[in-house]
Amino acid sequence: MQAITRHPKDRTPWQAELGQAYARLDDLLDALGLTAEACGVSAEAAAGFPLRVPRGFVARMRHGDSRDPLLRQVLPIEAENAVLPGFGSDPVGDLASVRTPGLLQKYSGRALLITTGACAVHCRYCFRRAFPYSGHSATPGVLAAALDAIAADDSLQEIILSGGDPLALGNGRLAEIIHALDRIPHILRIRLHTRLPVVLPERIDDGLLALLRDAGKPVVTVIHANHANEIDAGVVAGLDGLRSVSAALLNQSVLLRGVNDSVDALAALSQRLFSAGVLPYYLHQLDRVAGAAHFLVPDHVAVALHAAMAARLPGYLVPRLVRETAGAAAKTPLEYIGTT
Ligand SMILES: *Cc1c(COP(=O)(O)O)cnc(C)c1O
Ligand code: SF4
Repeated sequence: MQAITRHPKDRTPWQAELGQAYARLDDLLDALGLTAEACGVSAEAAAGFPLRVPRGFVARMRHGDSRDPLLRQVLPIEAENAVLPGFGSDPVGDLASVRTPGLLQKYSGRALLITTGACAVHCRYCFRRAFPYSGHSATPGVLAAALDAIAADDSLQEIILSGGDPLALGNGRLAEIIHALDRIPHILRIRLHTRLPVVLPERIDDGLLALLRDAGKPVVTVIHANHANEIDAGVVAGLDGLRSVSAALLNQSVLLRGVNDSVDALAALSQRLFSAGVLPYYLHQLDRVAGAAHFLVPDHVAVALHAAMAARLPGYLVPRLVRETAGAAAKTPLEYIGTT
């Protein structure tokens, strides 16, 4: 992951807020009234994939609770250092799907553009935590080549702006990408995959809303929340704005042990999302990235949780439970693969 560096003078309010994000374990623990011992934190894990968490997200955690579901997503702990068979650095075959640097295609009609390596938060379970962003980030030259490849391939209808997090880019950089895609006739939709609206709702500023509203193609926005506690009044306000400029506003989550592996937690998340104008899209089975094994929910438990959600909620509040399999033609519903 790359750091976001800007001259302080140039900072917008959200960039200033991001600059205040916790990057030191001691500061985070102090803020929550916790000790390193109580949490089993690991400096080694933090050295491999740095701690990064915006203060506003920490404010939604329960003070003094080392098991808080939001804290567990961001806290580097001893368990990350376990080396386990089957958990590697490229769990979903990203590198095999590279068309040009920064442009990944796995599925028919849609391709994914790595717009930046930066994120506002570092999620310990991230499947791209070891992605070699330096070779795939949208430097002007790399981006131009990726856009040329998109323009030359009329089998592509949708481009997904991903990363890292595309909203870690400023509005100017984002506008350049969106306007370039606007000029390609066969691109029918632009999709944003972003966790910023959840972890740093200040990012949804007027400039961003104007840019998305004025885009020449419908914008589908897919946010990433894993627990109902992530969605507070500030997030709801930002989502209101996003919904007004998006053709669809969806959420994807990752099923995480100790975070959201109960039907109560999953159902509460769906309900909270709907109240904020967001429909659940995917519930991802964990990608087997090194350092994240302690988050794994066994497949048979995942399928049972999903069935319990379906028994409790209207169909439109039940996300699709999927796994990403390297080489598959789509994300695969877990029910289809059987369980292990
Ligand atoms: C997950 C993913 C997509 C999106 O898949 P949808 O089923 O369309 O949401 C597209 N491209 C890549 C490379 C992906 O990993
Ligand atoms: S925001 Fe997304 S890409 Fe960034 S660390 Fe979290 S899961 Fe990974």
